[in-house]
This record gives sequence, C-alpha cells and structure tokens, in this order.
Amino acid sequence: MSRRQENAPRTALVTGGGRGIGRAISEGLAAMCGNLCINYSGDAAAAEETAGRCRRINPDLHVITVKADISSADEADALVKRVIDEFGRIDILVNNAGITRDGLLLTMKEEDFDRVIAVNLKGTFNCCRAAVKKMVRQRYGRIINLSSVTGVHGNAGQVNYAASKAGIIGMTKSMAKELAGRNITVNAIAPGMIETDMTAVLSDQVKEAILTQIPMHRAGCPEDVAQAVKFFASDDSGYFTGQILCPDGGMGM
Ligand code: NAD
Repeated sequence: MSRRQENAPRTALVTGGGRGIGRAISEGLAAMCGNLCINYSGDAAAAEETAGRCRRINPDLHVITVKADISSADEADALVKRVIDEFGRIDILVNNAGITRDGLLLTMKEEDFDRVIAVNLKGTFNCCRAAVKKMVRQRYGRIINLSSVTGVHGNAGQVNYAASKAGIIGMTKSMAKELAGRNITVNAIAPGMIETDMTAVLSDQVKEAILTQIPMHRAGCPEDVAQAVKFFASDDSGYFTGQILCPDGGMGM
C-alpha cells in the first residue's frame, strides 16, 4: 500500500532535464505532477525554457530549476535537499543526466573513462542515495534510471559508456531488491538511437550503420523515451521493479 494519497500532487526530479531526452521527460511529467525540479549542469537558459514549456503544459505546476553537477556527491545531496526543502517530499527521481566521451580502447584516455563513469554511474548512485533516504521515510518512491542499448549489447568505441550503462542496469536491479519492501520501485530504460544533441555529433556514416541495425529503420525521438518514463513514474506500474524497458525500434532483439 502506498502512503502517497491517490490525489496528492507528485513531486519529481529530472537530472539533466533541460534539454534532449530530459526535456521530453520533464514535459511528460509536467502533466502528471504538481511539483517538478529540472536539474541542469551548465545551460541555465535551456533549463528555464523547459520550465516555461512545462508551465504551459500544466499551469498549476510548481517548477524550479537547480544547477548541480551530479557527479559530486555534495552537489547531488544539495540538489535533493533543495527539492525536499521546496516541496516537502520526492516521489519520482529520473536519473537522466549522462555524457559520452567516445573512443577506441587502444587510445582511450584515462580521464575520458573516469569522467563518463563519474557522471553516468556515480552520478546516478549519488542521486539515488540522496533521494532514497526520504523515499524510505515516505514509504513511496519511483526511481527511473537511463541506461542504453549500449549497456545491454556493447558498442565498439564506447567501452567507457557501455561500462557505465551496464553498471546502471546492475545497480537498478540491486536497488530494486533492496527497496521493494519499502514500496519503492526502481526501473531502467535502455533506449536505442534517439535524435538529440548527443547523437547529432555522430557522422552520417556512423548513423547509417546504426540504422541498418534497427528493424524500424529510423531513430527514435525523445518523446518515445518519455512515454516509458511516464509509465514507470505512474501508479499503474506499481508491480514492476528491476525491469529494463527498451524503446529502440527493435534494435536489441
Ligand atoms: P544530451 O546530451 O542532449 O543531454 C544530457 C543532459 O545531461 C544535458 O542536459 C546535460 O546538461 C546533462 N548533464 C551532463 N552532465 C551532467 C552533470 N555532470 N550533472 C548534471 N547534468 C549533467 O543527451 P540525451 O541524448 O538527451 O541523453 C539523455 C540520457 O539518455 C543520457 O543518460 C544518455 O546516456 C541516455 N541515452 C541517450 C541515447 C541517445 O541516442 N540520445 C540513447 C540511449 C541512452
């Protein structure tokens, strides 16, 4: 049984929620939440623009934008504290923030391996650990972690990114087992190729090569991922935990 009353407004935090997939997730949650925190690390203007879009979707929404580098445990703690100070609780945590620093193993710099692990994997851990303290007391929580098809199947040139995203899957399942008894679900989403700034840097040749691996022969859009997030964030998904959902046009089959 949830301690969150059916009609009580939900409070959500989306890391890296100002652009790309994070923006679509913020907009998707705007319609089903009463309070929303959009985290960003650098681009305040994009986060403010997303906040404005969310307010237009739901004029009753309370939305704040908060700058924090989630790879820092102190900044992740302060981010979650700000949400709780502002709204009194945290119901939904979407660990969306992520980066790539692609390169082949032979030439990959140690700093590029470390930074990708620090943001994608440790950043997810930092935010989960901070939020779970409150969720346990609430006896309610929905955590959704962004993994990737690369974390499931691997990808040449992405040893660091694949390790971080595979780590997120292991972490998601472990946290799901730890927290199931506290009415906190933890699920992951492993998208295929989605059109955002992250994939815009790929050459046409690389994009074409990826498209040949997608049975639907097209890239996805951020809203395809947001739909999956909305499901895991909703009360309708209450009996799903430790699951990996793949909006990937069939790429992972
Ligand atoms: P993007 O680069 O457009 O957005 C990433 C967001 O993360 C940005 O808002 C950025 O500011 C934020 N961010 C980066 N470092 C941060 C830090 N240290 N602290 C706080 N925020 C930080 O990328 P996207 O395509 O929208 O990706 C969103 C998520 O989806 C990522 O986790 C990514 O790995 C994952 N993903 C993307 C694809 C794809 O094809 N685009 C596929 C699979 C998974």
